[in-house]
Amino acid sequence: MTDLGNGIGTGGSVFTGGCQCGAIRFRLEGRPKDVSICHCRMCQKAFGGYYAPLVSSRGLDLTWTRGKLRHFASSNHVRRGFCENCGTPMTYEAEDGIAIAAGAFDTPSALPPIIQFGTEAKIGFVDHLHQLPARQTMDDINSAPFLADIRSYQHPDHDTPNWETASWPPTKYDEPAKEND
Ligand SMILES: [Zn+2]
Ligand SMILES: [Zn+2]
Repeated sequence: MTDLGNGIGTGGSVFTGGCQCGAIRFRLEGRPKDVSICHCRMCQKAFGGYYAPLVSSRGLDLTWTRGKLRHFASSNHVRRGFCENCGTPMTYEAEDGIAIAAGAFDTPSALPPIIQFGTEAKIGFVDHLHQLPARQTMDDINSAPFLADIRSYQHPDHDTPNWETASWPPTKYDEPAKEND
């Protein structure tokens, strides 16, 4: 099997992803079927979002290829994994399996949701987001001139050889953080 990291061109059987800083990376083999969004209040809090997008790993082969998640038990039956280095929400873990944050995948567009859960808590305007005025990032260059020379410290959307020694992450920031920052 060729690993293209995006499930494309291989019969759609390998997906990779990770947190924003790249300290956590994972690999999911198999064809994910249960892709959902959950509107429940706990998922809103855990993701800091209007809802949580999740890809179930049930019946698939999930491997954590780099780093180790920290967990918060959000109830007596569920714990949620996150990167302790950058804070990215990564998992919803219950007795019946682990679901991974859909946006953490390297190719989230390849994993469209097929069902909504927790709709009793759905925030009403979520159904109207597509009607909002839309702007691209660089449309705001005048009001946010820093965008002209912005450099991303986000891990790229593919596996990298070694988190500690590769060019990623940056070892030196432009303005070193002062103590007590
Ligand atoms: Zn991270
Ligand atoms: Zn939920």
